[in-house]
Amino acid sequence: MFIDVFSCYAVGGAGALIGLGLILLIRTDQPRISHALMIYRWAFAFLAALLTIEFSPTEHRAHWVQWAIGMAAVGVTLLAWAFRQLNGRRTPPVLGFAVAAGAGLSIWAAAIWGADVHFVHAVAIVFALVSLGMAIDQGWLMVRSGRVNPSELSLFVVSGAFAANWLLTAWHVLTVPGPYPPHWLHEPDWLQPWSAMCVALLPLAVASVVFAIVNDRLTHQLRARALSDDLTGALSRRGLRELGERMLALQVHQPSVVAVLMVDVDYFKLVNDRFGHLTGDDVLKHLTHVMREHLRDDALLARYGGEEFSVLLPVRTQYEARVVAERLRQVVEATPCKTRTGPVHITVSIGVSFHLPNSSLEEDLAQADARLYLAKQTGRNRVVATDLAA
Ligand code: GH3
Ligand code: MG
Ligand code: MG
Repeated sequence: MFIDVFSCYAVGGAGALIGLGLILLIRTDQPRISHALMIYRWAFAFLAALLTIEFSPTEHRAHWVQWAIGMAAVGVTLLAWAFRQLNGRRTPPVLGFAVAAGAGLSIWAAAIWGADVHFVHAVAIVFALVSLGMAIDQGWLMVRSGRVNPSELSLFVVSGAFAANWLLTAWHVLTVPGPYPPHWLHEPDWLQPWSAMCVALLPLAVASVVFAIVNDRLTHQLRARALSDDLTGALSRRGLRELGERMLALQVHQPSVVAVLMVDVDYFKLVNDRFGHLTGDDVLKHLTHVMREHLRDDALLARYGGEEFSVLLPVRTQYEARVVAERLRQVVEATPCKTRTGPVHITVSIGVSFHLPNSSLEEDLAQADARLYLAKQTGRNRVVATDLAA
């Protein structure tokens, strides 16, 4: 297969420019993502230097290629740093810049002061190390988080292919002597087309994958925001509806039942009146924390409104649900809420209902609410799980 190497450099550089444009299109208010995007922009700007080879004067082309490959090494190192930043792993900026500068400088130094063989060695080793680091980093992240969504996997495949290409090149360069072409790398013939395609396609492939990953993250974040309550971090009503319906649907195939608890703070108005609204807010936050601590991970906790919370809880028996509700009531009574004006003692009343095969979530909640009303009428600080006030 005939590959026009210079055209591949040019395509790679043009792809980097398009990648830069794609990254510039992303809007986010997340500091971690914005910071990563800033590093990506620099990375693509450096990679775009490959495009200039196409327009270099023929008599200076060999030097021009060496200069542009050094720029591309800086770009690829910045890409590796940006991936880390995007994945939430901190790299001190001094280290990021130092490694990027080191990558570029070692290639330029070899080109200026070394023979062709030094330049070829420096390029192969620098790119092999950086791309291997990038692929291992991404692979390790997927293994550790156990999260393998298509865009993360694509990033692993792209960086893995790039790393494989450069490892083969490095191996060839170190084991097979020259002659060394100044315009292109010293590689086995069969690898050259793949290598050329890597150079041509990598920048745009990476930019597209980054675009997809950031899009995934932002969608996920927006969804999390829509489904949770600002003040307490518990689920919002919408969150309860979405996740609750899903829990009920899954429960059809289980021997267990879903218990629905309505929890309301007793005399909460008095807390506000006596200590102020901000302290009231602290009480709600603390109460959420206490309930979350004492519920199993599979329970859904939502702020239904004001000082009223709902819990959806898969249980084996109705008795178990009563025990859980009673334990919640006791824990709240025994744990003073930490607030800005000191500890505040509160109690809660709880109404409990059970999901039936033919009832809707709204009906379950309404029944729990009716039982909560009974609990209020019959003295507060108590659990009611039937329609008869005991
Ligand atoms: P009961 O025992 O009958 O439930 O009495 P209560 O005072 O708790 O009930 P009521 O429904 O009369 O009052 C609820 C209060 O909750 C009124 C409202 O000002 C307060 N509230 C609702 N949402 C918030 C909030 O987000 N923050 C604060 N601080 N207070 C809130
Ligand atoms: Mg209340
Ligand atoms: Mg209320």
